[in-house]
Amino acid sequence: MTARACEEKVDSQTTRSAAPVDAPAGTAQRQEHIPQRLLEEFRAYLPDKIAGLCRHAQDEYLKAAIRQLQREQHAEAEAELEAKAFREAHMRYEPKHPHVYTFTPSIMHPSLRRALKEPTKVWERPILAAVAPHVFSAPCLQQSFCEQLLEEIDHFQQWCERENVPIPRPNSMNNHGVILDLMGLRSFLDGLMQAVACPLASVLYPHHGGRSLDSHHGYLVEYGPNKDERLDFHVDDSEVTLNICLGRHFQGGRLYMRGVRCPLHQQTPDVGLDEVVTVDHEVGSMLLHLGCHRHGAEPLEAGSRSNLILWCRSSSHRRNVDYRTCPGAPSCEFFSRAGGGRGGTDNACGGDGGRGGGGVGGPSVDERGG
Ligand SMILES: [Zn+2]
Repeated sequence: MTARACEEKVDSQTTRSAAPVDAPAGTAQRQEHIPQRLLEEFRAYLPDKIAGLCRHAQDEYLKAAIRQLQREQHAEAEAELEAKAFREAHMRYEPKHPHVYTFTPSIMHPSLRRALKEPTKVWERPILAAVAPHVFSAPCLQQSFCEQLLEEIDHFQQWCERENVPIPRPNSMNNHGVILDLMGLRSFLDGLMQAVACPLASVLYPHHGGRSLDSHHGYLVEYGPNKDERLDFHVDDSEVTLNICLGRHFQGGRLYMRGVRCPLHQQTPDVGLDEVVTVDHEVGSMLLHLGCHRHGAEPLEAGSRSNLILWCRSSSHRRNVDYRTCPGAPSCEFFSRAGGGRGGTDNACGGDGGRGGGGVGGPSVDERGG
């Protein structure tokens, strides 16, 4: 390999590893010298394709990787400081509706409450509708509770603005809304996951961690004038997602679903027209779907819409899953729906196969946890 070819190759490598994360303010100017001894320590861990390049190229690759690591550590430290300041400020907050912080069965829609007495027979009840492949809808919360929960969240956001406390925003894709766990609703969300998501997911998604959900990230998304307009095509950082429409009045803003995919096949095209399904929201109702079911939200036509999103996760499922291999249907439908059977390790998208692909036309991975 010529020196020029060698440099070009490394360029693309370093660009790929450094590009996705913006440097926090102040760090770009403070690019510190990386001692040679540090480079030597890391050299043994180079991937084969970089280890085969010239020494200069290896050093450039290592420097880019180390700087990326430094930026991530800096960002994590800043986020931790912000979270600590938020927790301290939040102790002064006085709720408008204290009862919404505790989950009780009485807030559930009566038909769901009845159905959950025997979750394994939930199929036999008219309450649960399969609105798309692997997507289920059912009445979930009493409308009066939805309204009070929204009032409480509004009250909290107004308090944040008055007190000059930064509102904890939900994830990398929503500029509005709030992380409900940080707002003090963790216990309520625990109850919601245990009472609703766990029993249903264990019946509906046993193959995908549905029987072992043990943590969550809960947040509110808000669409409307001066709020988010739409939600781009993405997958969730969850095994199972519970999406409850809380209100208030709106037209449009349907959820669109575009096929269940493993991380290897997130960037693949739709397979068959029936993979692309749009689903209406109804106040008080929930949608349950797999986190790896690619989806997005169409723009609202009128009004405003607020939804409670609960990403439910299974630590045991995450420990056992092999991200290098396509699990095949039902956790990935790319090959099965195309009529080709199980996927194996083939990488049909031409990307790097990891979570967080972002290829042209594919979904992004919404993965900020909480
Ligand atoms: Zn796959």
